[in-house]
Amino acid sequence: NQRILLASRPEGRPALENFKIETVPVAEPGEGEVLLKILYLSLDPYMRGRMSNARSYAQPVAIGDVMEGGTVGRVVRSRHAGFAEGDIVLSHSGWQSYAVARGDHLRKLDPAAAPISTALGVLGMPGFTAYSGLLTIGQPKPGETVVVAAASGAVGSAVGQIAKIKGARAVGIAGGPEKCAFARNELGFDAVIDHRAPDIAAQLAAACPGGIDVYFENVGGDIFAAVFPLLNKFARIPVCGLIAQYNDTGPRPAPDRLPGFMREVLSRSLLIRGFIQREFADQRPAFYEEMAAWIASGQVRYREDIVDGLESAPEAFFGLLEGRNFGKLVIRVAE
Ligand code: NDP
Repeated sequence: NQRILLASRPEGRPALENFKIETVPVAEPGEGEVLLKILYLSLDPYMRGRMSNARSYAQPVAIGDVMEGGTVGRVVRSRHAGFAEGDIVLSHSGWQSYAVARGDHLRKLDPAAAPISTALGVLGMPGFTAYSGLLTIGQPKPGETVVVAAASGAVGSAVGQIAKIKGARAVGIAGGPEKCAFARNELGFDAVIDHRAPDIAAQLAAACPGGIDVYFENVGGDIFAAVFPLLNKFARIPVCGLIAQYNDTGPRPAPDRLPGFMREVLSRSLLIRGFIQREFADQRPAFYEEMAAWIASGQVRYREDIVDGLESAPEAFFGLLEGRNFGKLVIRVAE
């Protein structure tokens, strides 16, 4: 079993030395467990948080433990009545090529219904994040303007398309001309802005002539600063992620903007609410049903960025934090 451990905690940007790759014997499943051959490993921004000791909504990975992560695997040995050899399942087995998992922690996948890797993306945790955060907190109405950054990515691409399904105008922000063209032409965003352009505040204002009613916050940092002046009265801001800040080591030197920010929250009656997708777990059955139908009808499209080989995971993960991925980032661990 090849596996990747957390070797040390990064200060700022993570590096190869923070990981250790090793090979150990494959474990045997006990009663109620299955042995999985891992086929796909999901790489997600939250993993940066698990590498760190900073206070968070979840425990960090311990030094010397296998890095955490969602996986799709094939059952190679089963000691659980609900699973047979050959079944394809969703598990949370982390960065390794084989894993023992408890049967009651698994979700069986139907390979005939959708490509199995989508259980880590549009039909999995990121898609559900978009669905639950946008609909529960953002509540887009017909004719309103919804803005989302990382618009070509796993979460952002679904946010924009669900906003369109609900009759809203979708404005995306993405890094570089290729991602912008994809979001406009393939995903159907009404307008897309490149955040690497120097005048993003002016471009965003031009793309949102009626202001912004929902800002789905994926990145934080400079993009939020450009969005904030455009927020309409009663705007809703689901705070999903702050990827632009994940490698920060402390507060940035800047004037204290908090009092001015709070004044605007008050005078414009803004709703700002953070969330972690699993808080909306009771919506998952509705999500699986609706999202599968939207994909089947072509109303939701998705793009995957598949990288081969478990040993590629650290480099691919660094790329995710810098926008080098193009679509949902997945490691193909085995065929
Ligand atoms: P993506 O597939 O969108 O990949 C990350 C993207 O973030 C990059 O491709 C890049 O896109 C963008 N990005 C990275 N660094 C910066 C930066 N400094 N400034 C602006 N953009 C940057 O990832 P996900 O869809 O998986 O995640 C999107 C967000 O959702 C993250 O913040 C993540 O933490 C959050 N999340 C939250 C969950 C929750 O429960 N609250 C659950 C899942 C995800 P580009 O090149 O276009 O800028």
